[in-house]
Amino acid sequence: MKIPFDNSYATLPSQMFTAQLPTPVQAPQIIATNASLATLLGIDPAELDAANVFAGNEIPDGAAPLAQAYAGHQFGNWNPQLGDGRAILLGEVVATDGVRRDIQLKGAGPTPYSRRGDGRAWLGPVMREYLVSEAMHAMGVPTTRALAAVTTGEPVYREEMLPGAIITRVAQSHIRVGTFQFFAARGDMMALQALADHVIARHYPDADGTAALLDMVIEKYAKLIAKWMGLGFIHGVMNTDNVSIAGETIDYGPCAFMDNFHPDSVFSAIDQYGRYAYSNQPGIGAWNMAQFATALIPLMPDRDAAIESFTQAVNGFAQVYETAWLAVFAAKLGITDTTENDRPLITDLLGLMATDDADFTNVFAALGTDATRDQFLDRDAFDAWSIRWTARKSNDSHAIMAASNPKIIPRNHRVEEAIVAGRAGDLAPFHALLQAVTEPFAPLTNDTAKFAQAPLPNERVTRTFCGT
Ligand code: AMP
Ligand code: MG
Repeated sequence: MKIPFDNSYATLPSQMFTAQLPTPVQAPQIIATNASLATLLGIDPAELDAANVFAGNEIPDGAAPLAQAYAGHQFGNWNPQLGDGRAILLGEVVATDGVRRDIQLKGAGPTPYSRRGDGRAWLGPVMREYLVSEAMHAMGVPTTRALAAVTTGEPVYREEMLPGAIITRVAQSHIRVGTFQFFAARGDMMALQALADHVIARHYPDADGTAALLDMVIEKYAKLIAKWMGLGFIHGVMNTDNVSIAGETIDYGPCAFMDNFHPDSVFSAIDQYGRYAYSNQPGIGAWNMAQFATALIPLMPDRDAAIESFTQAVNGFAQVYETAWLAVFAAKLGITDTTENDRPLITDLLGLMATDDADFTNVFAALGTDATRDQFLDRDAFDAWSIRWTARKSNDSHAIMAASNPKIIPRNHRVEEAIVAGRAGDLAPFHALLQAVTEPFAPLTNDTAKFAQAPLPNERVTRTFCGT
């Protein structure tokens, strides 16, 4: 398999990573490959039938496999030593759109950063990441993507014996807030400066220095979270080591899309106190940017002045987020000329949805039809809202609503269903769901209609588990 590698991270100071080969596996088999992404990367889709490459058994020419060092705040607690414990960067390509991208194997064996982990992943989280990341991309959300997934033919042991799997992940980079924190915490100014220079050249070429870099990352991240909110997406583990500096959604673990709308929704079984609940995501986003700013301060010549200006920059997160959130939800309501005055129209609808347990996706997907009205218990309240909405929405609301309100998301019970079947050796549900979620705005067909349906009360899956 020919991959046009062009590696840059491997040329950075050596304390930033460790050269590390994947550990070969017994009997790799392809689960899925992504032909359109391969084409974007300059890889011939005809060569994708390469289980050995996607399993790490065969290293393609030009690869420079390595594991990256990083640190992070996990649920608010500082951990100075994380790093790629089960992910190995094969290398980078400059894709046909001119954008540099990482190609990484996740679940490819232990690295010096594995701590007590086995360096592996099991099939369930690999399927979840594949489905959700490709769905996010199809819905226009910046995200890492899935180039391939394989089973390894080897078991992994969690609480039970599970089939091992590896996902090949593609990202604009895997540099995180936690990457900066790693070097800032160690006082390694040489690496910190090299990292900042690398990130500016690679992701923010218009930034004329560290302060501008901070502003640009804040803006991207705030807009990203606004997009999550508009889709009812809950990341689940917004630790600083899971925050991409490129502003992409990264590290799909116990993530989920809400079915019935509730602002306090939490899915992750390990998120005991709801730190990463749906409605907390913007606040946590600002907190994460404060950690990023803190890690950048040592690069600034005047520490006190930097603290002051960076505090202002972080405080600006809220404004960027609120503006982006308004634009996202106005589009969902078919309002093209939105102003601050539209805020109550949006929040009033969300309030009714929460009270009446309405399905987040389907309320918007069918807005203006009885199918949406039927979601509400208090019809009078909904009708009153609907009159306000009809008076406000734009004449050409249809097109913008159709492009802003997905009909199909990877609903949790469908993802679980695909995983359960996959574990038993049946990949058909996974492929059917993948096909459906990659065309989220398309008219429903006989094959896809079931994926648009909200779960029955007994089908609801309200708990997700970490990607380990
Ligand atoms: P995550 O919660 O998946 O973002 O992972 C947090 C940290 O734990 C990262 O440094 C991961 O690389 C590491 N990690 C997670 N699972 C494993 C595993 N099975 N083996 C080794 N390291 C792991
Ligand atoms: Mg992570």
